[in-house]
Amino acid sequence: MSSRVLLFSIFLVSIVSCNAKLFRLSYTSIQSLESFKVQKDEQSGLVKRCDVNEAYSPNEKWAQKRYVRVNFHIMDDVEGSHNFPESAASVTYFKQLLENANYRLSLNKKMNLPIDNDTPVLDPGFRYVLTPNSKMKGDNGIYFHRDNDLYYFVNKGKNRNNFKRDVIKKYGRNQDSILNIFVLPHHPDSISSKSYKGGGTGIALGTSLKVAGLYDDKLEFWGYSTLLNHEIGHILGLNHSWYKNDGCDDTPPHANCWAPNMGASCDGDVVSNNVMDYNASQMAFTPCQLGKIHKGFARENSDTRGLITQNWCDFDANNFIVITKDTHWDGAKDLNRDVIVEAGTSLSISCRVSMAKGSKILIQRGANLILNNCRIHNSCGEEWLGIKAEIESNETPNIKIIGDVLLENITGQSQIIEK
Ligand SMILES: [Zn+2]
Repeated sequence: MSSRVLLFSIFLVSIVSCNAKLFRLSYTSIQSLESFKVQKDEQSGLVKRCDVNEAYSPNEKWAQKRYVRVNFHIMDDVEGSHNFPESAASVTYFKQLLENANYRLSLNKKMNLPIDNDTPVLDPGFRYVLTPNSKMKGDNGIYFHRDNDLYYFVNKGKNRNNFKRDVIKKYGRNQDSILNIFVLPHHPDSISSKSYKGGGTGIALGTSLKVAGLYDDKLEFWGYSTLLNHEIGHILGLNHSWYKNDGCDDTPPHANCWAPNMGASCDGDVVSNNVMDYNASQMAFTPCQLGKIHKGFARENSDTRGLITQNWCDFDANNFIVITKDTHWDGAKDLNRDVIVEAGTSLSISCRVSMAKGSKILIQRGANLILNNCRIHNSCGEEWLGIKAEIESNETPNIKIIGDVLLENITGQSQIIEK
């Protein structure tokens, strides 16, 4: 060996020996984290907001979208002359209507009210997906029914039936997992009365809804997509937003004008564009409204959680949620990826978090994890891999356990692995 090569070899060894060994600790039960328990942590100042709408506003770029399963039922009498006929063109119409409703969600607009507001504009973080019955061959999720007793919609007068659920009970499919949309004509006798107001209208009933007037009006498919977004907004937990008590501070009360200058109270530039008002736009959801919707999706056993696809159960091994600044998860989450807390940052968890099968929370050396009266589990009936912490020998990971913390559905043993 030449002296040059020998010198280089010694240099290499010295570099390697300067590097301390990195260990990875694996915690798979709350008992294994016992030594990190603190009685109170005044410094952290963590406030739990598990029931607060704004804690669920879809702010995080990495968050998965929620997909609401829907189907359509087109009702007519046995003659079949009052509603969309059973045809390929009608199927296309309803597919386009749904697509346009999704498109309008993607275009979420800035609020008009209050004037000069600085309310943020967020992607709603949810979309609709037409959902046939996968067990039925040829099912496309759009059904045509003929029923002389149940085909019509009346929202005024002695025959009023808009609030009745009999048509839903008879024809609804998988109502706990699919949002059933019933498309009905106004009753011909009602329409012929001058005092009856037809046109596009709807009503939300549990996890189903009825819309009427689509066929009578003969509008293009896009003419009803905001009506659909409005009615689905009700099913997802939203109230009309012109009222003071709709549960959101970023939707101010107002006169509920359809358009400017329609009546004395509608003079000037005061018309709302919120989806949950009656106006010609219906293109804006606020962060609080979206938070309310996502709070429902995140609440275990809620009706609306039953309507969404469980996409968080499919572990995505190729992408990560990387915490690069101090972060507090003060609302519940359903995650499909590993969480990596980078050195020099802290992640605090105060509510429920579902971790996908085979996923983990990794605390890099020099990172902090604070578990504050929270529950981390797998909501899909499977198992995740627990909390991993990287340290050099003789170091202790920066973990704090505050109050009642539940770690559930974890596979494997708590152990130390040399990296
Ligand atoms: Zn409404």
